Amino acid sequence: MKIDPEYQKLVLQIKQDGEKYADQQMQAVYGEQKSSLNELHKYLGLLYVKNAVNGLLNVTSVQKRAALADVDEQILSAEKSIGSAEAQAVSGILKHNYGDMYYKTAYVMDSGLKAGIKFGMLKPEYIDAAVKSPVDGEIFSDRIWNNKAAVADKLKQSFVGAMNGDTTIDQIGREIQHIFNVQAYESQRLVHTENARVQSAAIDDIGKSAGCSQQMFCATLEANTCAECAGYDGKYFDIDDDSKPDIPVHPECRCVYINVPPVSGWAPQKRRDNETGKDIGYKNYAEWAAEKGINNDNEYENNLVGIQTSNGITVTELSQHFGERSIERDVERKHVADALTNPLKVDNIRTDKQGRRSQRFIGEKATVNINPDTGAIITAWKTSKGKAKKLKGG
Ligand SMILES: [Zn+2]
Repeated sequence: MKIDPEYQKLVLQIKQDGEKYADQQMQAVYGEQKSSLNELHKYLGLLYVKNAVNGLLNVTSVQKRAALADVDEQILSAEKSIGSAEAQAVSGILKHNYGDMYYKTAYVMDSGLKAGIKFGMLKPEYIDAAVKSPVDGEIFSDRIWNNKAAVADKLKQSFVGAMNGDTTIDQIGREIQHIFNVQAYESQRLVHTENARVQSAAIDDIGKSAGCSQQMFCATLEANTCAECAGYDGKYFDIDDDSKPDIPVHPECRCVYINVPPVSGWAPQKRRDNETGKDIGYKNYAEWAAEKGINNDNEYENNLVGIQTSNGITVTELSQHFGERSIERDVERKHVADALTNPLKVDNIRTDKQGRRSQRFIGEKATVNINPDTGAIITAWKTSKGKAKKLKGG
């Protein structure tokens, strides 16, 4: 009997099933965020109906104080309820996925071994310890509550601005929408990061329990895998090595450690080429990229989402269109980041016939269109040398 030739592929599949489970479980939380946003929009509508003159709020300082106290209460209770739902959902996801990763990877390793591996059963206190393990001094629920407090602050600031009488209902409506989009993005990033951490802890724990002494780092064979993860791909580490790279290496990292089964002569066999979707004979990332002529220069891949533009828009996502077209046009992500944070020129917001809004950032090397309401990058292309020169006044 031998270890299943698809062993590491099966481990990856278990990990991906866990990621899918996490996304499904989070849907209810995103739903609650949306209904809170709707409530705030309704509240705003009433506020303007009662107090607006020529489209702007016109209130006395006494009215302002009373209204802000009321808004504070609305916001705090909304964020409290979102925070509890989120903390509960994330806790459930992490516990479920820790157990899943532990037992299912044990099963795929064990199914190829005559003698069977011996491993310890999970006790609730082990699961708890893995789920509640702090990162930089904070456990996941601390992070959730800090995020909610920050969202509540931003919302309050928007209302204070409106009370000062210089914001139309459309403007504040969009501001609030944007704050909620960023909140949803932060929630998603948090659950992905925590899930990757807990899945990785489960792999370490079952590996140690089953007597494995080594692990192989496994990244994804894909052109946009970041350079750091690609560089670790195929490398072996001692399971007890405290200096091995921590997974997740970065937000949205999809890497995984494969426990080397405690039998002699195991070597990885098949793996998936994510560019073609086909299984290929095992090769590490460097070998694969060299064969495909892929120049892996993607340090900025994961750094675009979350950055703030020069006028304060937080980038929440890269549209599918952006991902495909920007690579096709050979636009480097660092140039996109530079255009957004350090533009030569920012155009006024434009609205197309379908009512979709976009704003153009012209940087020295790249020009980027972004949706100012959602923070989604729509598209990007190279800035011509002539244009850059002209804008720089050269
Ligand atoms: Zn990675």
